[in-house]
Amino acid sequence: MQNPSNSKIQEQIDEVFSAQKIQALKMRNSTSLLRIALLKKLLDWIKLNQEDIRRAVHADFKKPYPEINISEIYAVNSEINHAIKHLEGWMKPKKVPTPMTMLGAKSHIQFEPKGTTLIIAPWNYPFNLAIGPLVSALAAGCTAIIKPSEMTPHSSALVRRLVVETFDKSLVAVFEGEKEVSQMLLSKPFDHIFFTGSPAVGKIIMKAAAENLSSVTLELGGKSPTIIDKKADLKDAAEKVIYAKFLNCGQTCIAPDYVLVHESVKEYFLGLLKEQIGKMYDPKKKGIEHSKDYARLVNAKHLKKIKNLLSDAEMKGAVLYSGGDNGPEEYFEPTIITDLKEDMDIMQEEIFGPILPVLGFSDLEEAITYINLKPKPLALYLFTTDKDAQKRVLKETSSGSAVINDCALHFLQNELPFGGVNSSGIGKAHGYHGFLAFSNEKSVMKQRIGKTLTKPLHPPYGIMGRKIIDGLLKWF
Ligand code: NAD
Repeated sequence: MQNPSNSKIQEQIDEVFSAQKIQALKMRNSTSLLRIALLKKLLDWIKLNQEDIRRAVHADFKKPYPEINISEIYAVNSEINHAIKHLEGWMKPKKVPTPMTMLGAKSHIQFEPKGTTLIIAPWNYPFNLAIGPLVSALAAGCTAIIKPSEMTPHSSALVRRLVVETFDKSLVAVFEGEKEVSQMLLSKPFDHIFFTGSPAVGKIIMKAAAENLSSVTLELGGKSPTIIDKKADLKDAAEKVIYAKFLNCGQTCIAPDYVLVHESVKEYFLGLLKEQIGKMYDPKKKGIEHSKDYARLVNAKHLKKIKNLLSDAEMKGAVLYSGGDNGPEEYFEPTIITDLKEDMDIMQEEIFGPILPVLGFSDLEEAITYINLKPKPLALYLFTTDKDAQKRVLKETSSGSAVINDCALHFLQNELPFGGVNSSGIGKAHGYHGFLAFSNEKSVMKQRIGKTLTKPLHPPYGIMGRKIIDGLLKWF
């Protein structure tokens, strides 16, 4: 039995969903001009309310303002501008060649909006990962209901305000709440569900989507490895790894989860990593807990999870190389550990926090085998100047994305599809690929009237027809 407040929410969901179904049919005819106007409205609101966005996200987990500017506001604005610039071209029907055997017919791909869509967002980039997919949904001409995460209430309320102040609820609506609200939404027959979150919840979403045969994009997580080859520029690598790992206090789906470093340079590289942490977060040696440039874990439950990962690892023999301090207000010091073993929870689960395990390897083969024994990661990072090593790692491993000589930067490259593979995700996002995720690529064939090359193949199968069919088998 649903409790009364839940049945009220269900009623509201039913009402909005019905309105969006009607609106989705109207949006089928929407021009690029109309969609661009919607995207511009979104951009205008963001530009006008930047300070509110910063305040809301900061209130949730003390994310530093420059990090909010880059990874929440700039990321979304650049996605909008990219869509505005290219939308007309993306929407144009794409002509494809027609084979000789169908001479006279013409073929093209027409991009039609999938229709009603549901966007379920996580908490770690609470603005970006709710509004980024909305950009693709609007570009493709879809309606959308957004369910932001309950873990970041200030940001969720802000996403709701943005939507209420910018769109009619028959086009875009927001339902805040716990997983029960997600489940109520998931009972509706959406044409597409775009989910960003953990692989465990991703499976629940996919099962629910199967009930209605809704298509899905699943943007999931996992353990993204970073290989430091002996031919890497180690100083450059240390700076980039520390930035991407401890940005957002380690709560980034594409953060380097662990480092595999060549044994010959391991000790030196560990020293560089530690030095970088000091340079970035404690340049005046006042203690990292006082740095305004370092975010916090999202809540006490998550702090406990990270503490448990560290204590389980230490209990099983891991060595704390640096950091480990944690304390009031969900602070957890940037931490490096070594002497890892596979039975440690930290080597099995996505860490999603500021602990960096560093493992050694003696040749590239060993590193590649280690990665291939684990589920396919969302991202893989390789630091080396050796072109053969670059080619080898790209060819012999599988991951959603791969970046050479940097980490996490690919998220902001709108020309590249963003997403995972198998346990790290299904489907792709960003730019044209986000537009495609929310579009049905309809195949259209136009045949001529009267005589065609295929008519002689119809029954009754006379001598002529049989000869043509036999001929086709000979040639193809
Ligand atoms: P989560 O899976 O716990 O929650 C995501 C959303 O799903 C939230 O809105 C939540 O309310 C909802 N949800 C939770 N349980 C549910 C259930 N049983 N039924 C229906 N809905 C449910 O993820 P999170 O903790 O918010 O985010 C962290 C995870 O997201 C990490 O694994 C991270 O790697 C991943 N992530 C992936 C990307 C990406 O782009 N691939 C980006 C950010 C985060």
